[in-house]
Amino acid sequence: MIRNIFFKTRLTLTIAMSKLLIKVCRLLRLGGTSLPGKVANKMFPGILKILAGNVRIIMVTGTNGKTTTSRIIAQILNENGISFFTNKSGANLLSGITTAFIEAARLNGRPAKDTALIEIDEAAFNKAADLVSPSVLVVTNFFRDQLDRYGELYSTLKSVRSGIGKTSGTVLVLNADDSLCASLGASNKSIYYGVSPEAYKESVENSNTDAMFCLYCKSRYEYSYHTYGHLGGFKCPNCGYERPTPHIECTRTERLADSYSEVGISISGKTIRAKINLPGVYNIYNALAAAACGYALGLPEEKTVAALQSFECGFGRMETIHASDKYIKLILVKNPTGFSQVINYLSTEKNEFLLAFAINDKLADGTDVSWLWDVDLEKLQQIQDKAIRIYTSGIRAEDMAVRLKYEGIPTGKISIVKDYKALINMGLDKTPAGGVFYILPTYTAMLEIRKLLKKMYRLDEFWE
Ligand SMILES: [Zn+2]
Repeated sequence: MIRNIFFKTRLTLTIAMSKLLIKVCRLLRLGGTSLPGKVANKMFPGILKILAGNVRIIMVTGTNGKTTTSRIIAQILNENGISFFTNKSGANLLSGITTAFIEAARLNGRPAKDTALIEIDEAAFNKAADLVSPSVLVVTNFFRDQLDRYGELYSTLKSVRSGIGKTSGTVLVLNADDSLCASLGASNKSIYYGVSPEAYKESVENSNTDAMFCLYCKSRYEYSYHTYGHLGGFKCPNCGYERPTPHIECTRTERLADSYSEVGISISGKTIRAKINLPGVYNIYNALAAAACGYALGLPEEKTVAALQSFECGFGRMETIHASDKYIKLILVKNPTGFSQVINYLSTEKNEFLLAFAINDKLADGTDVSWLWDVDLEKLQQIQDKAIRIYTSGIRAEDMAVRLKYEGIPTGKISIVKDYKALINMGLDKTPAGGVFYILPTYTAMLEIRKLLKKMYRLDEFWE
């Protein structure tokens, strides 16, 4: 009895303290995302387990596309009138997730909302699985992140697998075209999504360095087609491990425009036309992952399709800012595969444009910029005539300039402009009316540029 009262008092005290801390952090503009969770875990170890006990949890993990996929799932939940809470983008480690649950909890520890949509770092999932058991786990893909060695990619996969081993009731939503991701489906109930060769395939084989060899017997995979990176129709000629048949599949693409895609999606055999309000094949995957999550939750298809269409790209991944009669498009770049996909997307641009790369090497960006050499810039070289001017900026502007030069971009076309304000003004000045100035920043460069743009064009706070 006394023990029970002590337990409840301590829980309430911890929640109250942490809620206060969240408010103080916000007031001081510290963002308030991970510190309160950290403090709560110190005051009440394992508090997440108690707070998560009565919540239906949807988790999203994987190397690329976590934030976009989570945002599309959020839109699907909204369309269905499901009230939920979520962690802030970037706060995807245990402390940030704990903060989200504290914010959503009443003082007695009961949740104010009974559904949570949680984006989680691949490496943090195994630890989280000791405390929470998600209803659905969406895994986007596994790619080498910046300078990861092969071993690290496989140890990340192993760690996610180990986390899944602790959650037998969790329904998995997996990328059928990724041999690494699809292999997670062995134990749990799994829903697969993928892109069919009729819908999209790269004419040339991509440099597939992430997963060339069979996970089970080390034979080299044979591919019937490639979409991008190591994704596609893989099959091991030796042990027979192959791309599973997807439940949710993009079976045709009617249009791949520079800001959206029109596709046919087959959901359990029935094909539905859908407009995905985001560009590029990598976003088709994100949309499919989200649609498969809706399917796993038993939500109606028409609401899912409506969500794909009404989805608006949020902070960071790609944001369009109107600057009188011109546009600035900010697109975050953070690893070689994602960066290469953005270049791929730029190659669909039909008009002349301005382009800037803002590369920082702070902790959140990755401190070693040699990952830039793994970015596939061949397509940029092919479309260089459309780029009126290419700027490099950020702390490592010089490195990016060298990288471009090496790719065969004429040095006369490249300017190093370190000051962001000067960069924005110069770029916009040279942008033709109705045209686009693309800025591709790393994470901390994006925060700085966005802060400036916010002053100039009154943007919304990103954590609102
Ligand atoms: Zn094999």
